[in-house]
Amino acid sequence: MEFCKLSAAEIAEGVRGKKWSATEVLEASLERIKKYDGKINAVVTLCEETARKEASEVDAKVARGEDPGLLAGVPYLAKDNFCAEGIKTTCCSKMLENWVSNYDSTAVKLMKEAGAVLVGKTNMDEFAMGSTTESSIFGATLNPRDITRVPGGSSGGSAASVAAGYCPIALGSDTGGSVRQPAAFCGVQGFKPSYGQISRYGIVGYVSSLDQVGPIARNTKDLALVMNVLAKADYYDSTCDAYDRPSFTEALEGASLKGKKIAVLSGYDKSHVAPELLEAIDKTAAYCKEQGAEVFEADLPVARKHAVACYYMVALGDASSKMACFDGMRYGYHEDGKNLTDMYKRSRNNGFGKEVRRRILIGTCILSRGYFDNYYIPATRVRQMIADEFTELFKKADLCICPIHPQLPYKQGYIDDKPLRVYLGDAFSSISNLAGLPSMSINTGFTQEGLPTYVQLIGPRFGDDSLLAAASEIEKGFGAPECASMEGVC
Ligand code: GLN
Repeated sequence: MEFCKLSAAEIAEGVRGKKWSATEVLEASLERIKKYDGKINAVVTLCEETARKEASEVDAKVARGEDPGLLAGVPYLAKDNFCAEGIKTTCCSKMLENWVSNYDSTAVKLMKEAGAVLVGKTNMDEFAMGSTTESSIFGATLNPRDITRVPGGSSGGSAASVAAGYCPIALGSDTGGSVRQPAAFCGVQGFKPSYGQISRYGIVGYVSSLDQVGPIARNTKDLALVMNVLAKADYYDSTCDAYDRPSFTEALEGASLKGKKIAVLSGYDKSHVAPELLEAIDKTAAYCKEQGAEVFEADLPVARKHAVACYYMVALGDASSKMACFDGMRYGYHEDGKNLTDMYKRSRNNGFGKEVRRRILIGTCILSRGYFDNYYIPATRVRQMIADEFTELFKKADLCICPIHPQLPYKQGYIDDKPLRVYLGDAFSSISNLAGLPSMSINTGFTQEGLPTYVQLIGPRFGDDSLLAAASEIEKGFGAPECASMEGVC
C-alpha cells in the first residue's frame, strides 16, 4: 500500500476498519522521510520513539474495540514552534537550539486525543519571521515540486512535508501568510482559520494579535477534519472564543457554489502579479460562474494600498516586545558578559539571526516615543479600516477571491537580492490576518514547468465552515493535488 498517496481521512478509516495498523502507516512515513529528507530538509526533529509509542496505543485501542479518534493513526508533522512535551522546540533559532518543551501545546494535545501521531517537527524561518524557510539554523528547505526553488515560509517545512508525501497533514502557524503561502508554493492546500478559532497556547508566538494555527493538507476534506479536531475553546487562550464551533466536515457535504455571491478583488496593479497567477484567478472565477455563482469585481482600496505597511508596523512593533522574553537568562542561549547589559547584548546578538535582529530593531524603533504616535497608532487605525472594508464587502458577498502571493515560487537565494520584494509579497496574504478573517490558499494546477499555481479565498469572520465548503467545490474543478513524485530527488 502506498500510504503516501492516501488522505488523512482514508488512513484513519483504514486504521479504524483494521485494514492496516497505525504502526504500519507510521513506519511508511518514517521510511519516506529518511529516504528523501536528506535532500529536502523539511524535518528538523524526528520523534521516532514517541511516535511508535503513540501509534501502538492507537492500535491497542482498535484491538480493544475502543474509539481510536477522528484522526486514528494519521501521521503528522508540526512546525518547530509548537510545544510538544519532551521534544525540542527550537523555532529554528540558535536562541532555542536545545530547548525542550515540558508541556504540550493545546493543538498537539488535541491531535493526540484524536489519535494522530506526531512524527516530528518541521523546518521554518527563524521565529516564523520570513517567507522562504531559508533563515533556519538548520539550513534551507527545498521545494519538493522543484528543488531549485524555496518552499515558501515561514511554515515551509510543513508544506514541503505534505507535498513530499511524508504525511497527509502538517500544522503551521500563520501571522501574515505563513500557512497559505508555503502551501501554495508547494502545490498543496493551506487554511488559516478566523482569529480565535484555534488555541495558540503553547505555540511560540510572533505577533499575538495576528497569529493563528492552521492545517496544511492535500485536500479540503482533510483540512476540515483537522478543523473538527482543533477548533475548540481553550481556557489557556482567552482569545480563543468560547462559542460553539460547527462541524466543518458536515459543512462540506452537499456544498454548492450555486447562488453564491463571489467578489473578485480588483484595482491592484496587475503588472506586479505573475501572468500564470492572474490566469488562475480568471479560471477560478469562470469555474464559479459555471457552477451558478454570481461573480463580480470589488475594490478594497485601504487594504490594497496599505496592507503591507500596516502589517509590518503592527507585526514588528508587537514582535519586538514579544521577543523581549529571550533575554539570555530565562530561556535558551546565554553568553556571559562584563555586566547585565553586556550579557543581554552578547546573548541576543549571537542568539538571534540577522532577520530577527533586523525586525526587533525596526519594531523597537516603531514603539519608541514619537514614532509610536506616528507609525504604530496610525497602523492600528488602518488595520481597523481594513477590517471595516471587509465587513462592508461581506454584506454583499459570501466569498472573496484574490491572489495569495504575487509570484510563482522564488528561486533559492532570491531574498538576498530583493528582501523588500519579499516583504511586498505579503500584500495579499496579510490582509486576512489584519482583519482576523478565515482564508485559504487553493491549488489551481501546475504550469508546464511543473510549478504550482494558486489563488486565495477569503471568507467572513467565523465563516470558516462555509469557506471550506466553497473551497471543496472549487477543488472539484481543479482536482486536489497529489504528492510530488520525488523522482530524482535523492
Ligand atoms: N512573511 C510574513 C513575515 O515575514 C509572514 C510570516 C508569518 O506568517 N509567520 O512576517
